[in-house]
Amino acid sequence: MPKTKSAKRRKEEIASVPYARGFKPPTVKQSEEAIMNKRKSSTPPVLPTHLQPSGGHFGAMRQPLCQDDWLAQYNEEGQDYAGFIQDCPWMSSRKWKIGREQRFHSKGFNIKEKYPDGKIYLLQLGDFDKGERLYPSFQELVKYVEIFYDLPVSEMKGVELQKDGDDYKIVISPTAMSASGETKKRRSSRTIRHTLQHRYNSRTRHLQLDISSILSSLKPHLPADALFLIALTMHDLFSDPSDLFVAGMAAGNHRVGIFSFSRYNPSISFSPENWYEIIYHDNDDEEKTEEGEGKSVILERSCKLLVHEIGHLLGLDHCIWYECLMNGSGHLEEDFRQPMFLCPVDLHKVETLCGFDVVSRYERLREFFKRHKMRKEETWVQGRLEFIKNGNSK
Ligand SMILES: [Zn+2]
Ligand SMILES: [Zn+2]
Repeated sequence: MPKTKSAKRRKEEIASVPYARGFKPPTVKQSEEAIMNKRKSSTPPVLPTHLQPSGGHFGAMRQPLCQDDWLAQYNEEGQDYAGFIQDCPWMSSRKWKIGREQRFHSKGFNIKEKYPDGKIYLLQLGDFDKGERLYPSFQELVKYVEIFYDLPVSEMKGVELQKDGDDYKIVISPTAMSASGETKKRRSSRTIRHTLQHRYNSRTRHLQLDISSILSSLKPHLPADALFLIALTMHDLFSDPSDLFVAGMAAGNHRVGIFSFSRYNPSISFSPENWYEIIYHDNDDEEKTEEGEGKSVILERSCKLLVHEIGHLLGLDHCIWYECLMNGSGHLEEDFRQPMFLCPVDLHKVETLCGFDVVSRYERLREFFKRHKMRKEETWVQGRLEFIKNGNSK
């Protein structure tokens, strides 16, 4: 097993710690009411089977286990289904700040009907899986997002990260510029190179790229049919000089984002007091895991981060109703503990927003988990599908 936990942190976690000041955990009834489009109704909501929280598939939110846990730090208000429908910019009958070229139907019931050309773009910034390293496969991440939200997902081409001496550059080819609908005058046939800010610790040989220089290089080249563009990288990131690291960030009205999976590699561990101090384990030593196990761990963690962040870009706030993919996380261990799945409140939001069939989406997720030997997730989906097919047995 990878040594990602220190004995010290384990001890800290034994006792629960209080919630952030002002935070009141929702009651069972409040969580159930949050699922439907009803507030403070006297009659209990009638839930379709696939949105019922029973069946033992959705745990209640847990009290924080350590000071750094999300709910020990933040007084989250919680977003119920009705609040989401009201506030989500993608559900509005007014076109959101989006490319002028993109078609928009104000009367559409979901994002696909409203923005029929809209796609999620993912961009590979630097190396991903080439077989020999513990990196997730970029193509599998694309597939996972497509299954999870049932929205079109495309890889953005023509943008590369290049090392040039001591510099790191984002290189944008004319192909990428024409896809973004930039005017011919601006577009020119020449390739554009943006030098990125970075910092390098020569003692630990650890490189970090600056988030804002990446975001500002990408913003002008957003593809014309993009709902949003997310760059993914295995490089570690920082934003402010005082940051140890930053997992990612979205900008430009949340239409361009960058996220790093570098801290998700199970073969690295961190000094618990200072996550900047990364220790790389040699994969040939006693840390060696069963063939393919490390790869499914990093794929699982990366898939989870990616769909959580896309959830935010689609208008989902952090979840306080159940244990859920959209729970906030204050640190990596809390992140690793959280489920891959949306609770009934958030599933209902996404079902309405993306207009998918919940059962066929679960079936496709089950196939994905099976293919990647993500046994726990496969079993969970299988159990949930049986619950939906057999009706409410409890
Ligand atoms: Zn979040
Ligand atoms: Zn939720």
